[in-house]
Amino acid sequence: MARLEPVHILEMDRATNRMEVVRINPTRTFAHLGDTGVATYTWQNGHWFGQGGQEIPVEQVPLDYRETMRAHPVVIAEQGPSVVWTCEFCGHSMNRSEKDDHLIGHVRDTLAKAGTPPSPPELPKVEERPKARPAA
Ligand SMILES: [Zn+2]
Repeated sequence: MARLEPVHILEMDRATNRMEVVRINPTRTFAHLGDTGVATYTWQNGHWFGQGGQEIPVEQVPLDYRETMRAHPVVIAEQGPSVVWTCEFCGHSMNRSEKDDHLIGHVRDTLAKAGTPPSPPELPKVEERPKARPAA
């Protein structure tokens, strides 16, 4: 019997000491307003779960929701931190979770080499004028 799991499974990344998502459970919940109140039907990893998180047979799920799941499967674009990422600037390969800090390092180096970062261009001042009111 399947168990309803959290959507995001987190683990400590030893490289950064940050909690990182290592797995995402594709999940979608439908709220169903019936005679006795709201009931929820949750789809996760091909199984359906009822209000209390217990697995229920697919026949108990309103047909609408089953068809919605068929027509619009849950797609997860995000990839976990165990994915290797290669820097396009220096060619170093590393854990994807280290990418942000690494790129910031490149930006700092570039700015240091270029000297003072250029100040932002001054924007032309726009004079504020009271708007003409339409004649009543
Ligand atoms: Zn790099």
